[in-house]
Amino acid sequence: MLKQGVMEVLPKVRGVYKINEPLCRHTWFAVGGPAEVMFVPCDEADLGAFLQGCPAEVPLFVIGGGSNLLVRDGGIDGVVIKLEAPAFKKIELNGNILTCGAGLRNVELQKFLVKNGIGGLEFLSTIPGTIGGSVRTNAGCYGKEVKDVLKAARVVNRKGELSEVSADELHLTYRNSSFPEDWIITALDFEIQEEEPEKVLETLNHQKMQREVSQPHNVKTAGSTFKNPEGKKAWALIKQAGCAELAVGGAKVSERHANFLVNADGACARDIENLGEEIVRRVYENSGIKLEWEVKRVGKP
Ligand SMILES: Cc1cc2nc3c(=O)[nH]c(=O)nc-3n(C[C@H](O)[C@H](O)[C@H](O)COP(=O)(O)OP(=O)(O)OC[C@H]3O[C@@H](n4cnc5c(N)ncnc54)[C@H](O)[C@@H]3O)c2cc1C
Repeated sequence: MLKQGVMEVLPKVRGVYKINEPLCRHTWFAVGGPAEVMFVPCDEADLGAFLQGCPAEVPLFVIGGGSNLLVRDGGIDGVVIKLEAPAFKKIELNGNILTCGAGLRNVELQKFLVKNGIGGLEFLSTIPGTIGGSVRTNAGCYGKEVKDVLKAARVVNRKGELSEVSADELHLTYRNSSFPEDWIITALDFEIQEEEPEKVLETLNHQKMQREVSQPHNVKTAGSTFKNPEGKKAWALIKQAGCAELAVGGAKVSERHANFLVNADGACARDIENLGEEIVRRVYENSGIKLEWEVKRVGKP
């Protein structure tokens, strides 16, 4: 579809359309070609109106914090939706239910959790990315995952219809979910427990410290590249296959954590993907185990 062509068929909105928006600005790997169009809706009603007016043949993709994505160098056709307006970043506490906008960055939860003495979500607030992306990937760490704390979600479908669904309907599994591809999550309800603010802060600091010692920081990465196969650790299989020092172009395996790939020196998405695929090949040759990508690869080569 021609660039002008897409803009011509898109409905009038209150939010912003950005043409040819470089996605390297929106991903933690800092790679990726442009979004043909990026749409930043003002609020849920604006998103709904956009979806109602957007022709079915225009491909849509939602981007959160871009911390689990490898966007290929050719970019993404159609419209990439980003929920970064203030309306998608609200936090509200009602009894033991915490409602968060899907565009809220996980780290932005931290102050609120401590201030209001909220326990149970510390793990989530230490994971990069947004609440919406963390639900799609059923993010987790330190023995907990989103599935354990999520009660319900507000979603909009491709026709712009808004509904409330229970956590069960999102079918969350290990670093995955299987709800319809066209559902866009706009807000989430989490079940929380009352906790002493000092205890919340202590848990947060402990978890942040664990990250500091075990993971690379201040680097361009998307976290764990591959899922841990049943009963195994991906990083150990990668090391055993002799891949700890592997590099392709500007991409290399992290010295800190062998399951993290790093854009160390001007890598392009192809370097990172080729490095990952070479690891998959060598690990299979060495152990007979086929690693599965946890990082989601999207877009055109
Ligand atoms: C340094 C580092 C450490 C990490 N540590 C962990 C960890 O401990 N545990 C862990 O689980 N992950 C970890 N990750 C991976 C990543 O942070 C999580 O998967 C995160 O939850 C992804 O959120 P995001 O907003 O960045 O999603 P994105 O990467 O932008 O998108 C991921 C998927 O979610 C979809 N999506 C995003 N928003 C929405 C929405 N509103 N509605 C529907 N679909 C949506 C996207 O289309 C895409 O399919 C780490 C990443 C980094 C860089």
